[in-house]
Amino acid sequence: MARIALILVLLFVLALSPAARAYETRHVVIVVIDGGRYTETLGDTTFANEPNQGFLMAPQGCRAVGWNAGVTTTVAGHAAILSGTYQPLLDDGTEWPHLPLLFEYYRAATGAPASQTWFLADKGKLAVMSHSDDPDYGAALGAQVQVDFVDDIGVVTAAEAHLAADRPAIMAMNLGETDWVAHSGNWLGYLHAIHTADSLVYDLWTKIQADTALAGRTTLFVTNDHGRHDDQHGGFQNHGDWCDGCRRIQVLALGPDFKTGLVTPFVYQQVDIAPTVGVLLGFAVPHATGNVMDKLMLVPPGSLGVGGGPAPERLRFAAPSPNPSRGAVSLSLDIPGAGGLAVDVLDAQGRRVATLERSDAAPGRRAITWSGRTGAGHRAAPGAYFVRARMAGRQAVARVVLR
Ligand SMILES: [Zn+2]
Ligand SMILES: [Zn+2]
Repeated sequence: MARIALILVLLFVLALSPAARAYETRHVVIVVIDGGRYTETLGDTTFANEPNQGFLMAPQGCRAVGWNAGVTTTVAGHAAILSGTYQPLLDDGTEWPHLPLLFEYYRAATGAPASQTWFLADKGKLAVMSHSDDPDYGAALGAQVQVDFVDDIGVVTAAEAHLAADRPAIMAMNLGETDWVAHSGNWLGYLHAIHTADSLVYDLWTKIQADTALAGRTTLFVTNDHGRHDDQHGGFQNHGDWCDGCRRIQVLALGPDFKTGLVTPFVYQQVDIAPTVGVLLGFAVPHATGNVMDKLMLVPPGSLGVGGGPAPERLRFAAPSPNPSRGAVSLSLDIPGAGGLAVDVLDAQGRRVATLERSDAAPGRRAITWSGRTGAGHRAAPGAYFVRARMAGRQAVARVVLR
C-alpha cells in the first residue's frame, strides 16, 4: 500500500516536473519602443515612466537587461531583433536586411500565409522590416507590413485589430514616438511618449489576455532598438554611437513559457530574441548568432521529452543542424501520437529528392538524419530543400540549405 502511494506521488511529481512540459507558445508579439533609454524605462526601478510594465507586467514574466552590440540606430536595431544577427544597415530605409528575418524563417518552415506574420510601425523607413534580400528567402516569404501610422496609438490599435482578425504567429511593431520626440530635444515630451507607449503595451497585453484564442498561448517581448546617449556622451536627444546609454536597453518577456516574477541582471543581446522565438514556435533560425534566453524560460531547449513526459502536442521539427550544411543534416521530430510516419526531402520545386522514413512511429522525439544525398546516392546540388514529415493528416516542414 505504501509502495503504491509512493509510486502515485512519483507519477504526480513527474507530471509536474518542468521537463515534462512542452512549449505552449503559439503566437509571439514583439514591441519595440523606439529609442527608450534604459535610465528612463525599466532601468529606473521607481518605474516613473513605465508603471504598467514595471508594476503590473514584469511580475507576470521576466525583466532583464538588454544590449545592442551592433549599430545603435533604428533600422539596424530592428534588424538585430528580427534576424538574430547584427547587420550594419543604412538608416534611411533604402537598404534591406541581407540575412533573413523571423517572418521569412517561419513562413519557409511552415508554409504559412503572409497574414500569419505582421510588422507595423509609425516610421515609414521601417518598411524594410518585411523581409531580407537573402536569395534563399526574400519577399515571397515576407510579412504583411503597415508603416504609415502617425502615432503609437495608431500602431497599437491596428495591431490589436490584426491580432483579433488573423491571430498571427509572429507580430512585431515599432512605437516610434519616443524617439522622434527625443530628437526634438523635448525632455518632458520624451518622458510622456514613454509613458504613452507603456500604457499602450499594457492595453495590448490586456486584450491578448481577454482573447481566449491568444491567452495562455502568446509570448510578448518589449524591448528597444537602441537607447540614447548617456549624459557623458551628449545626453538624451540623440543616439547612434557605442556609449553605454545607446547600447543598454530593456527586455521584458512574458508568456506561458517564461518564468514569473524573475528579475535578473543577466544581460541579453538583441540577437538572442530571434533564436528564442524559433525555439518557442519550433522553427530554425539558422543564421542567428544569439543564444536562446533559456535562463528566463520554464523549459530549457533540449530538455523536451527527457524523463518520458507526455507526448508533444503537435508534429514539428526542431532546428536542423548544421544549417546550412555541406553534408549531412540532423533533425529531431516531435511526434504527437503513434502512427504511420513518412519523411521525405523535397527540392524547392516540390519534387521528392530522397525518402528518409517509412515506419510506424511512437510518440516522443525522434532523430532524423539526411545524408545530403539523393535517393540514388548522389550528392544533392547546393540550394534550399524541405524536409517534410507527414503523419495522420498532419505535416511538419523544416527548411535546410546545402552549400
Ligand atoms: Zn530608433
Ligand atoms: Zn551614445
